[in-house]
Amino acid sequence: QISEKRPIIRQLNDAAINRIAAGEVVERPASAVKELVENALDAGARQVSVDYADGGKTLIRVSDDGCGIAPEDLPLALSRHATSKIDGSDLLNIHTFGFRGEALPSLGAVGRLTMTSRAEGFDAAEIRVSGGQAEPVRPAAHNAGTTVTLRDLFYATPARLKFMRSDRAEAQAITDTIKRLAMAEPFVGFTLRDVSGGGEGRVTFRADPESGDLFDALHGRLARILGQEFAENALRIDATREGLHMTGYAALPTYSRGTSVAQYLFVNGRPVRDKMLYGALRAAYHDFLSRDRHPAAALFIECDPILVDVNVHPAKSEVRFRDPGLARGLIVSGLRHALAEAGHRASSTVAN
Ligand code: ADP
Ligand code: MG
Repeated sequence: QISEKRPIIRQLNDAAINRIAAGEVVERPASAVKELVENALDAGARQVSVDYADGGKTLIRVSDDGCGIAPEDLPLALSRHATSKIDGSDLLNIHTFGFRGEALPSLGAVGRLTMTSRAEGFDAAEIRVSGGQAEPVRPAAHNAGTTVTLRDLFYATPARLKFMRSDRAEAQAITDTIKRLAMAEPFVGFTLRDVSGGGEGRVTFRADPESGDLFDALHGRLARILGQEFAENALRIDATREGLHMTGYAALPTYSRGTSVAQYLFVNGRPVRDKMLYGALRAAYHDFLSRDRHPAAALFIECDPILVDVNVHPAKSEVRFRDPGLARGLIVSGLRHALAEAGHRASSTVAN
């Protein structure tokens, strides 16, 4: 009787594997935008444009002026675990946003994806993939750089489609993703456009003038993204502790918010949402703020990639420090020092 019901072990095909992986990598339109913009940044883009419609559900289009892809490499770019960013020999030393070679095949498995590109010394070409099925590469027209168009995200996975929130909520998440990446790359110009019904709504973060100074560029960008008031109330942060470096801007306690939405943290240039780091930020302001107030800050932690694991989750917004106490200590002491210097002693400050 047992043999009657003996389960059959099968090797899944690539389309099925990609669709399963997509569940991890692409949660919602904003995660598709994140993957595509990170690819543009990894390609050395100076200008990135993002168009979307209906909260990204029907259309996401990301264009860049980066290095482009040669026609013969287009099918490879869309295949699983294929990447130009690492060779697999040193997983502890990663300097790009991407490295898994999972985003494009995943997106091609859950939407209709077209990738058009021109690399220096090559003609422009295009490849299409939908539901995991790729068409042959064909000639196309394109400036130097790459455009990826993703239509009908999750059309192939109705269960996921159901979990999508309202167009407005998804558009909000896309905007938030672009803000974070625009902070991480203040020398790159970004344009974000909602092209649904008439094409209202456009946000532009111009590439800051070529002053070359990162603090100036960042300050200008934060003024644009978080507002002039934040910029005027922001303390410049620059602190080091045993190989860990923290830079950025943190607002005076008097500028605190009633919600924690103005907290932006980056590790080695990568936007992260990490509980431990948020906790450290809160702890740093503990003596300066009443309980219902939240500090506002954009902080960049840099260290040897060997000291931090960004491999924790495919979406890569969590990190694991080799020495979490050290990272926490750097944030808490670095910020407290800056706040104290600014004359905001705990005893004299009751913010509300
Ligand atoms: P990963 O970013 O982890 O390498 P992806 O699936 O996102 O994996 O991309 C696969 C490869 O396609 C990249 O390694 C890169 O070589 C190429 N690629 C993707 N997007 C772009 C782009 N906008 N410009 C140039 N090359 C790109
Ligand atoms: Mg990528």
